[in-house]
This record gives sequence, structure tokens and C-alpha cells, in this order.
Amino acid sequence: AAQIEMSHVFKRFDNGTLALQDMDLTIRQGEFVSLLGPSGCGKSTALRMISGLLSPSSGQITVNGHAPGSAGKSAGVQGGDVSFVFQEPTLMPWATVFDNVYLPLKLRGLSRREAEAQVTEALEMVGLAKFGGSYPRELSGGMKMRVSIARAMVTKPKLLLMDEPFAALDEMTRFKLNNDVLNLWRRNGLTVIFVTHSVFESVYLSSRVVVMAPRPGRVVHDLALPDATTRD
Ligand code: ADP
Ligand code: ADP
Repeated sequence: AAQIEMSHVFKRFDNGTLALQDMDLTIRQGEFVSLLGPSGCGKSTALRMISGLLSPSSGQITVNGHAPGSAGKSAGVQGGDVSFVFQEPTLMPWATVFDNVYLPLKLRGLSRREAEAQVTEALEMVGLAKFGGSYPRELSGGMKMRVSIARAMVTKPKLLLMDEPFAALDEMTRFKLNNDVLNLWRRNGLTVIFVTHSVFESVYLSSRVVVMAPRPGRVVHDLALPDATTRD
């Protein structure tokens, strides 16, 4: 069954900008979909509507059969079945790596002790098990981004939304993190929507590339790629 359905979705902002025109998109469980296109083509707008941070001006969106965001979220970081990774790592500087990753579970009422195994597992997933007691300022940019990914994964989401997550990082770090994300996807069987303006990144990562164009923002191509799970 379709996990995400967008049907005839339009978004016009208050200043009159038509950010998205007549977007149809059906995504199945387990797909890794890149939204690819130049700045201003509506990638972030589409992702924000899927996450429930923005509402469409017209058209229909459902995620896991419900209106987006209806699972209840906190500051857009976490929404139950749906997790979001932003371009900036958005970690709490005063809290340890462990406590940053624990936050979504804390908001669900789990004590630190109840959450410990899950937080540790999420940190292991991104190779930072030894850094639970460190503070964000002690970490490199790539490590901070991996903490953000661990925080997004700690609730075992069905859907991971990433909005140009590595844009601020150098090329080598991006490449390493791309491999981390591929491995997470392969191991966890989740659906990923990954916003990027990098053709390389989209082709390297995805099972499907949705190409968008600006003014007005719209979908111009929807390409299936050879299954990335079987590629090296
Ligand atoms: P992308 O993520 O592909 O760079 P966006 O979704 O951010 O594109 O933006 C699509 C279009 O909508 C752009 O023309 C942008 O300037 C415009 N836009 C985005 N957010 C707003 C807003 N809050 N108010 C007005 N216009 C906006
Ligand atoms: P970036 O991803 O920002 O390039 P790296 O992940 O390469 O940063 O890490 C920068 C430094 O931090 C490395 O040289 C290494 O010493 C240390 N580091 C990063 N990840 C780990 C880890 N899992 N275990 C131990 N040290 C690490």
C-alpha cells in the first residue's frame, strides 16, 4: 500500500508565490526517494507539507493513511512514525549527546533508564556509542550530524525526512554520511525522502529520483533507479 499520497497539491504563500503546482506523488513503504532540483523548485515546501509543518493551499496529502503531522510532534523534530533531519544539526548545546538523543523518548514519557538501551542502540547505529557523555561543542560537524540522525532514528520511525542534511559539510564528510544513511535504510527497512540539489547524491542514494523545476515549483521527471540495496 502507498505510504505517502500527494494528489493535486498546490502551495501558494501569502506573498503570492506559487511554490508548488499540481504535485502528484505516491511513495511506497521502503522506497528511498530523492527530491532533486535547483534552489526554489519547491523541494522543502513539499517535504514540509509531508511532515505536517505546512498545509497545502489545495489538494490532498496522506501519510500512513492519516493527515500529515496528526501523530503529534514537538518542534518538528519528531512526530512518532515520522522523523525529520534538518540541514542544521539543531542539537541542544547544554545537553550531552546521550540526552540529545534521549529527548524524543523523554517527550514520550520514558525515563532515562527505560530509554537507555534504545539511545545506546541509536548511537551505535551511527558509530558514536563512546560519545554519549560528550557535549555537541566537542564534536566535529559530521559527528553532530550523526547525532541528529541518531536522534531521528531512536523512535524507530517508519518515515525519515531529510532536508539537504549535509549541505553545510565538506565533500568527504558528506560522502561518509551518505554511506551511513544508506546502511541505516538497508538495515531498518524504513522509507526515506531525501531533499538535495546534488545529482550525484540523488543517484548514489536513491531507489527513485523525483526531479523538480522552479517558477512555478513542479515535478518534471520521476525516475526509478536500479535497486540501491543491491548496488555497491
Ligand atoms: P527549494 O527547497 O527547492 O529550494 P522551497 O520549497 O524552499 O524551494 O521554495 C519554493 C518557492 O517558494 C521559492 O520561490 C521560495 O522563494 C518560495 N517560498 C518558500 N517559503 C516561502 C515563504 N514562507 N513565503 C513565501 N515564499 C516562500
Ligand atoms: P567529520 O565527519 O566532520 O569529517 P569525522 O567523523 O571524520 O568528522 O571525525 C573527526 C574526528 O573525530 C576524527 O579524526 C576522529 O578522531 C574523531 N571521531 C569521529 N568519529 C569517531 C568515532 N566513532 N570514534 C572515535 N573517534 C571518532
